[in-house]
Amino acid sequence: MLKKKMTDALNGHLVKEFYSAYLYQSMAAYFELKALPGLAKWMRVQAQEESCHGLMFFNYLCEQAAPVRLGAIDAPPNAFKSPAHVMEVTLKHEQQVTAAIHELMDLAIAERDHATKQFLEWFIKEQVEEESTASSLLDQLKRVGDGNGLFILDKEAGTRVFAVPTPLVGRV
Ligand code: MG
Repeated sequence: MLKKKMTDALNGHLVKEFYSAYLYQSMAAYFELKALPGLAKWMRVQAQEESCHGLMFFNYLCEQAAPVRLGAIDAPPNAFKSPAHVMEVTLKHEQQVTAAIHELMDLAIAERDHATKQFLEWFIKEQVEEESTASSLLDQLKRVGDGNGLFILDKEAGTRVFAVPTPLVGRV
């Protein structure tokens, strides 16, 4: 059974994951408008993954027979200066999510909540990947600028395919 403090913290984080989905969907719209369908697809996939992260928190709370309280989701930004700026915002956002996950882990450790610690392990690892991916895409976008390289990068980004995260397979 989850303690109230942990239940509140997990409910708070659930909203952050769904906000991430909203943010990336907004970025997909920006890329669509800029005629960069590959990067738009990449962001659509990213948004789907974030909804899955939110669902993983939802499922965990249900599993622990804890109340799920869906809070309000803020409106994401919808104006960006350039493709590289989009990725700067993405990287900064993922760094904030990493910090939030680490805070949840600190709380789980302090509360000696072993089940939640184990649940959060997946997210600790996932955040390393999220930051690394955003950082390398940012480097590439900065390098290509507005030139022909952007066309090639867009084609590559468009090959990304959505896959349900392993812990959520069969539980969406
Ligand atoms: Mg996430």
